[in-house]
Amino acid sequence: MNADPLPVLSPDIYKILFEKSPGSLLVKADKPDFTVLAASDAYLSIHGVTRPTVIGKGFFEAFPIPTGFDDDINAREVFKKVIETAQAVEVPAYRFDVFNADTREYEVRYWSSRNTPITDAGNNVAYILVTIADITREVKAKEAAEERENRLHLAAEATELATWDMNLLDHTLIYSPRLAEIFGHPPETRITLAEIRAQVNSEDMQNIVIKAYQEALKKGNYLYEVRIFLPDGSIRWIRTQGLTITDENKRPVRLLGTVLDITDSKRDEIRKNDFLAMASHELKTPLTSLKAYIQLLTKRLLPSTDSFVDNALLKANNQVNKMIALIHAILDLSKLESGKLQLKLKDFEINKLISDTIAEINVSNPGYVINFEPDEIIIDVNADKEKIGQVISNLLNNAMKYSDQGTRITVSSKKVKGNVRVSITDEGIGINHQDQAKLFQRFYRVENEKMQNISGFGIGLYLAREIIKRHKGKIWMESEEDKGATFYFSLPLPVQISLFAQ
Ligand code: ADP
Repeated sequence: MNADPLPVLSPDIYKILFEKSPGSLLVKADKPDFTVLAASDAYLSIHGVTRPTVIGKGFFEAFPIPTGFDDDINAREVFKKVIETAQAVEVPAYRFDVFNADTREYEVRYWSSRNTPITDAGNNVAYILVTIADITREVKAKEAAEERENRLHLAAEATELATWDMNLLDHTLIYSPRLAEIFGHPPETRITLAEIRAQVNSEDMQNIVIKAYQEALKKGNYLYEVRIFLPDGSIRWIRTQGLTITDENKRPVRLLGTVLDITDSKRDEIRKNDFLAMASHELKTPLTSLKAYIQLLTKRLLPSTDSFVDNALLKANNQVNKMIALIHAILDLSKLESGKLQLKLKDFEINKLISDTIAEINVSNPGYVINFEPDEIIIDVNADKEKIGQVISNLLNNAMKYSDQGTRITVSSKKVKGNVRVSITDEGIGINHQDQAKLFQRFYRVENEKMQNISGFGIGLYLAREIIKRHKGKIWMESEEDKGATFYFSLPLPVQISLFAQ
């Protein structure tokens, strides 16, 4: 079956098609005039002219270039090239502002044009068909993106941040000149990833960088501080922070980030830390001897006939104990910050440690009832006895500090899936949900009117968390405001015990 023949279009229809097409112009290849033969409505309206005023005129007379633009030279070059090469010439982007009759102002507009040769029977270029397209939106979007990038770049430079982008597939690295500077090289130096890694302190590389890298692949971001060696042998501190970019299959493909030299603030921090360590150490010596004198006096004088003496000695002993605990906490904090907190692991029975700690605390706080309910009589653990004792006593002291005298405090211990879980429950002021997330942070204290008369430093829970973390255990809490709180910690049990437990 034959298809219907295509209808033959009359020259009038072709004329309409041309005149209604977006941005078209036909000029004769009669240089230097380039006589205008036809123009579409859109082309005419862009230039703010009517058809009779341009047809038959030379291109440069018909479309005079507004002052301030020198595109006529370009157009001449383009037309010349079309004739010489008999090939289409594209002008990817140029600016030509359009007069807006409503606002009576020129609007900034960008265009692209294609200039196609039309040849005669002798294969000479007889006409040029100019088609233009409005690309203002694309150009403006690109300008905005460039401006954003520039702003970012300036911000990074102003804050002395170095930026880097590592390809995880071929390990190539792109970075800003500041990175080379931070690593002690002239800014234009090209350094490889291997060279950068070789400058990182080897201990920090093992303990921090490799772990952070593995975490970044899993979690999607990373932040760490390490020491680096500069080529002149000096040591500096850097903080690097960033995120992982994944492909459509969620496979990590790039690591992006910033590097900041934090040597000055780190040195300040180290000095402060050293000061804390030294001051608390110096305070410990006179306190220990004060405690010894109080104990000697207690032995000599108690039981006495004077109840004031009995009471004063008991109170003095309690206060000295409080100060000693506080100084130990500050010492531990400084050791922790400088990475010097060492655990002395040994086997011991945790229920005995819990009851001893309760007994000790009961002496100085007779106003509270502390119940201990172990699930099993004996639970052996392998841990730092003194430090775990400190955690228990911290949690017990908090339970008392944040609840009224006479209320109940319940302690329990239980074996759960290869761990021992200890809990301390009070009936005190409790903690609202917003604060719960931040309680274990260093120096964090809840701020509300209930807390106004309760003193503290906000380091007890932070230390407890760090101690438990170093035992590969967990610490957490549950609470409802005004209804009390339960603090839990769990420690992994030695392997042979955990086998029996399951
Ligand atoms: P400190 O008690 O010295 O302020 P901690 O680190 O021990 O510091 O505790 C941090 C904060 O957590 C406390 O300031 C308090 O607001 C809150 N908190 C701790 N334990 C309890 C508790 N048992 N009940 C209510 N709030 C608590």
